[in-house]
Amino acid sequence: MSIIWFSHPSGLDHVTPTGHPEQVARLHAVEEGLRPLKLDRRDAPDCSDEDILLCHAKRYLEGIEAAAPEAGSISLDADTHMSPGSLIAARRGVGGNVAAVDAVLDGEAKAAFVGCRPPGHHAETETAMGFCLFGNVAIAAKHALDRRGLKRVAIVDFDVHHGNGTQDLLWNEERTLFVSSHQMPLYPGTGAASESGAHGQIINVPLDPQTGGAKMKAAYRDKVFPRISEFAPELILISAGFDAHRNDPLAGLRWEAEDFAWITDWLCDIADEHCGGRIVSTLEGGYDLTALTHSVRAHVEVLKERSA
Ligand SMILES: [Zn+2]
Repeated sequence: MSIIWFSHPSGLDHVTPTGHPEQVARLHAVEEGLRPLKLDRRDAPDCSDEDILLCHAKRYLEGIEAAAPEAGSISLDADTHMSPGSLIAARRGVGGNVAAVDAVLDGEAKAAFVGCRPPGHHAETETAMGFCLFGNVAIAAKHALDRRGLKRVAIVDFDVHHGNGTQDLLWNEERTLFVSSHQMPLYPGTGAASESGAHGQIINVPLDPQTGGAKMKAAYRDKVFPRISEFAPELILISAGFDAHRNDPLAGLRWEAEDFAWITDWLCDIADEHCGGRIVSTLEGGYDLTALTHSVRAHVEVLKERSA
């Protein structure tokens, strides 16, 4: 019982335009961060269409399949692009998340980290956006609930951007507790504290720019951890974006790598108390390559130590 690292080389075939922050080199940065940890590493499997349809409309999946180029690159919006390898890479991200949930629920490991790209938390029911095609973490939650029989799944999204896609996909899902902390104002503009889901099951924690780790810790201690404990999750999912780091070019929350470790340690405490330590974390953003290496290592190192 330890931790499994799911990844797949197809992520290297999702090629974005030159200068795009969500670039192939991010996977190498993650690799550099995690290789020294000597994890149990497995290929993320392809997903089924049914996995994607747990959260997305069929016509959306068909539209993405039809849009996939045979050569070059196409744009789904100003930020979100597809190369010939993008669909396969995105499907492995979904498949990795589903496999990670299964591995943890089957007791193969206590925790899992899915290090695939493109990320997922901005993708809405029928809209690709913010570099994302499929809502990996929301699909993982639906899989755990609808197919594995869990009754309560908590999701914590500490990416610096609001998890608008996850919020959209789980707006009516009262078996989930979705927490997103994010810089505000910032892309995509949603995530006000007043957005709380159809059942009050969504907690948005907007953070002012330049506020650093101390403000984040106070917000998590006051608003986030007590609500998750009260919810008593049977599984905790993490949307692990590392773009709140002080060196990230897309945002300015000024966290340190240690801040990601701090949140992770707290979530492990809650997971130990309520769900046998079961945590599945999935890569979202993080665009300074060196910061990504250090931050993902800090995050996964805690998951490894706590699941040993
Ligand atoms: Zn982000």
